[in-house]
Amino acid sequence: MSAPTAVDVRARIREVLARDVLPYAGQWERQRHISATGWRDMGRAGLFSHPHTGPGFLDSAVLLEELGNTGYAGIRAAVGVHAYMAASYLEMFGSPEQRAAYRPGMLAGTTVAALAISEDAAGSDLRRLSTVATPDGTGGYRVTGVKRHVANGSRAGLFVVLARIGEPVAGSGLTGAALLLVDAGLPGVTREPEPMIGWHAADVCRIGLTDVPVAGNRLIGRPERTLLYLMQALNMERMVAGLLAVGGVMHCVDLVDRFARSHQIKDAPLSANQSVRHRIADLRAQLDLVRQYGYHAARSHSRGELDVRTASVLKLQATELAVSAAQTCVQFHGARGYREDSAAARLYRDAMAGTIAAGASELMREMIFEG
Ligand SMILES: Cc1cc2nc3c(=O)[nH]c(=O)nc-3n(C[C@H](O)[C@H](O)[C@H](O)COP(=O)(O)OP(=O)(O)OC[C@H]3O[C@@H](n4cnc5c(N)ncnc54)[C@H](O)[C@@H]3O)c2cc1C
Repeated sequence: MSAPTAVDVRARIREVLARDVLPYAGQWERQRHISATGWRDMGRAGLFSHPHTGPGFLDSAVLLEELGNTGYAGIRAAVGVHAYMAASYLEMFGSPEQRAAYRPGMLAGTTVAALAISEDAAGSDLRRLSTVATPDGTGGYRVTGVKRHVANGSRAGLFVVLARIGEPVAGSGLTGAALLLVDAGLPGVTREPEPMIGWHAADVCRIGLTDVPVAGNRLIGRPERTLLYLMQALNMERMVAGLLAVGGVMHCVDLVDRFARSHQIKDAPLSANQSVRHRIADLRAQLDLVRQYGYHAARSHSRGELDVRTASVLKLQATELAVSAAQTCVQFHGARGYREDSAAARLYRDAMAGTIAAGASELMREMIFEG
């Protein structure tokens, strides 16, 4: 099975990941962030330069799948947030001046980007957003609030922040919300790690914002269009999360398949048992379907036609499949798969984040049910 793009794109991406990511992946997991050198190496190799829109997005789909296929979901999440989820706001809705200020550093990996949308009370329900951007009377804003579970939090140079302009008005939904580019070095920005059970290299943090002075030219687009921006960007985010998860399942199924063929029980490979063979076959069949659906979503996005349902179906199916594949992977590895330092255990821990981050599975089902 091949993606709708040239084979050499995949080969080149695999080469870069094998050289600049996999040798350091264990260390990044242990230190719970990607090193500055790692970000720069990936930037130098062009990993952050694939297009967000148009026909070139098909190369991005291959990159996202292959990032997932490394088997390190924390790394794939960190890169996905930096190069796609956060960057998409700048690329799709930012001004030429904003792109000129941030794009070179982001492509080079010298400025790491993070997306600071979620809050304690505003995860699935963003209408409960409470971070406030108060106009300072000179065209700028003073931003105050607390953002939770922000990937790349401790290393980011740039936060894309969702805030309300002025005090929240009861029942106003997201009316009055705005997206701001907030430099991490501004006074009033604090970061505190929020250690997760998985996605260790994703560097998830609580971001405090206290009276942070943000210049008026760091407002993204037009505030009255924020809801439209969010709908478009969140849709893309779900597709990106889905493509990353597809790659994660590819890695997981290959791992359990290899183990089942090599591990001996009663003088025969584990895969000699029909129940084992059939479970792996079922996973491969489900993976084939969801992978093709991922390409369908990527093609739709490249034509500017990605709808809410397609993105939600992909995110739901790929991340839920990752959970059941990881469970099988641990089970078939026996105690060696339950060891904290095993690859199977990492896949198992990591998989659960996929069904929560970028929109919980239940929210995806709501979106699909609504049409
Ligand atoms: C590892 C990780 C990384 C993250 N990275 C980022 C990041 O970089 N930036 C960022 O802004 N946010 C990030 N998040 C936050 C993420 O987007 C939120 O966790 C997610 O939107 C869900 O919000 P919540 O956790 O507040 O759960 P809540 O909204 O409080 O929901 C709790 C649970 O309720 C259930 N639920 C929700 N809605 C419904 C419904 N309609 N029907 C039935 N059940 C429902 C779901 O099971 C859900 O998990 C990250 C989260 C994780 C776990």
